[in-house]
Formats: sequence, structure tokens, C-alpha cells
Amino acid sequence: MPASSSFMPPKRTLMGPGPSDVPDRVLAALAQPTIGHLDPAFQGLMEDIKALLKYAFQTENRLTFPVSAPGSAGMETCFVNLVEPGDTVIVCQNGAFGGRMKENVERCGGTAVMVMDDWGRAVSPAKVEAALKAHPEANILAFVHAETSTGALSDAETLCRLAQDHDCLTIVDAVTSLGGVPLYVDKWGIDAVYSGSQKCLSCPPGISPVSFGDRAIAKIRARTTKVQSWFLDLNLVMDYWESNGGARSYHHTAPVNAMYALHESLVMLKEEGLENAWARHQTMHEKLRDGLKELGLTYLVPAPERLPQLNSVMIPDTVTDEAAFRSALLTDHNLEIGAGLGTLAGKVWRIGLMGYGASDKNIALCLNALRTLLRR
Ligand SMILES: *Cc1c(COP(=O)(O)O)cnc(C)c1O
Repeated sequence: MPASSSFMPPKRTLMGPGPSDVPDRVLAALAQPTIGHLDPAFQGLMEDIKALLKYAFQTENRLTFPVSAPGSAGMETCFVNLVEPGDTVIVCQNGAFGGRMKENVERCGGTAVMVMDDWGRAVSPAKVEAALKAHPEANILAFVHAETSTGALSDAETLCRLAQDHDCLTIVDAVTSLGGVPLYVDKWGIDAVYSGSQKCLSCPPGISPVSFGDRAIAKIRARTTKVQSWFLDLNLVMDYWESNGGARSYHHTAPVNAMYALHESLVMLKEEGLENAWARHQTMHEKLRDGLKELGLTYLVPAPERLPQLNSVMIPDTVTDEAAFRSALLTDHNLEIGAGLGTLAGKVWRIGLMGYGASDKNIALCLNALRTLLRR
């Protein structure tokens, strides 16, 4: 094959930690003609995306929009704007992504106080409460709602209440939770939240929806130092995503077609209904769980703390080369599942049931493929 020929991706079923399967409707939206990012039609689309994101996040926050970059950039948007040099941030770590939060805090000149929990367990509210009491100087609590590296779901409502009781703002990673499990930004009093397009929204990767409440905006407005990142500085981005009755000012060129795709995926979420989408993830999780049990596979995470959309199962002893097993899934069955990360590498597989991929069809394909290969 000459190096310059067109790329034809293989047809895969994506049941890993993301990206998830993208429905044809979303792919078709992506392929619509590109228009200018300041075209009135595109500005109308921006407004509609913001309204749909408010629904998905269950918030009335005016500052709700998609960052033109992947989930990691949504994470950075929250940290670089909210954390100023000298701030103390309580960071919960029960998997890979909490470690990235610590990195973010330190790069912003803040001090991270770590609350550590085992990989595969939810964040312990008792430990968080103890840390809040021991560190009255802390002004932010940061945690991951749905830890994709392990498959554990934390009690965001309780953690946010603890933060409020101790006058802390909250930064919540909802990259994998948005659209997959109940998430109520306003009801739970979340101050800053970020997500990703490629998990339970079933959109191609590269966009990060975020939302900021009034308390978070007040802290950003009261900053005495400039936000270290020009691209992610909300004071500047806000003028692009909010017209405020006047003309939008140019900040960067939004990835126009990626926004068409995000919009379509959000329309599909709205059509299904958020509660129905959450219920579908739970039902599909239970079906997969029953099938995995029949194959003799066991879960890493205790049942009450399990994420429906990310199933971490222990690799059985009979599988001596787990990487070869996963590549056989890919080559023989066109099925992608995830490997373990960090301390869980070689110990677990991560099976995603995200968004459009949380379906009977995918479960049947996955169980069938696992059964065939485990018999070998
Ligand atoms: C995937 C993920 C991220 C990072 O998102 P990218 O789009 O890969 O940058 C952050 N947090 C969690 C919990 C994730 O699952």
C-alpha cells in the first residue's frame, strides 16, 4: 500500500474505556459541509449546544460550553482558572485520574492535600471529611465522579455537601459519568465540572463540555494573578461562547464539524431522555455482569460502588498473556476492550458499556468473543 493512499479504518466495536461506538447519525453530522465559525448559523448551533449541555449536566449555569479540546483540557480549564498560587486543594485519588488532578494543582502553584483510596474503591467520604477538618486553609475539593481507570463510582452528592460544609468549592471530573449515571450539577451544588465527548455521549473524541457555577465564576473574577494558560483562560473564552447581546469576539476557531457531531449526540441524548439513558446503562450493565459471571469472571469493584459503564474484571489465571488475548479479540472479533492502568496493569480488563455502545448487540458480541477465546 502506498503511504499516500486514503486511510480506511477497520470496523471495530469499541468496548474499552473510550472512545465508545459512534452512531451513524453522529458520523453523518460530522460530514456536513464546514461553515465559518462566526457564521450566524454556527452561532445558533453554539447556543443550542449550550442549552443541550445544560440539560445533560442538569444545570442552569450560564457558563456551560464545550472546550475545543479533549477531556484533559476540560480538566485543565477547571484547575488553571480556579487554582491560584497559594491555594490548598484537597485532591481525592482512587485511580489514575486523581493523580492528574494533583499534577494540575501543583502546576498552578497550589498545594495538593491527597486523600488516597485503593484503586477499585469509591472515594471515602469519612477520609475527605477528616482532611477538610485537618486543613481549614483548603478552599477547593477535587475528585473524580466515575473513575474510568478502575470502574468505581464515588458519591458525588455527599462529597459536595462535605465541601460546602467546609466552605470549599468543588471541581468534579464527570468525563465518564455524564450521560451514563445520575449527575445533578445544580442539585448537588457542584461548582466546576468537566466531561468528554467520547465516553457516554458517543461522540468522536476531542471536545470537553464544562460548566461553572456562580461561586466558581466569582473566584475566577477575583483572581489577582493572570490565568497561566491563554487558551483556557475563561475570561477570554467567555467572550467567544457568550455573545452578551453584542458580537462574539474571535478567540480561536472552534472545530466546526466536531461541534456538529457533539450537537447531534446531545440531540440523541435529549430524544432518549437523560433518565432513560441512565437506566439503559444500568440494565445493560446487569446483563453483562450476569454473562461475565457465567464465564467465571469476577469484578474488581464491590457491587455497590460499581460503574455500569465501565466494568473492570479480574483477568483469570488461565490467561497467561493478557495482551495477546486482547489482540486476538481485536483481530478475530474486531472488539476492543481496555487494559488495566497503573497498578492494575496485567490484573484487570476494562469493559466499557458507554453511550450507544451500551446495547444488547455489543453485550452478545463481547460475551461470545470472550467465551470463544477463554475456551482455547
Ligand atoms: C477519559 C478520561 C479523561 C481524559 O479525557 P481525554 O479526552 O482522554 O483527554 C479524564 N478523566 C476521566 C475520568 C476519563 O475517563
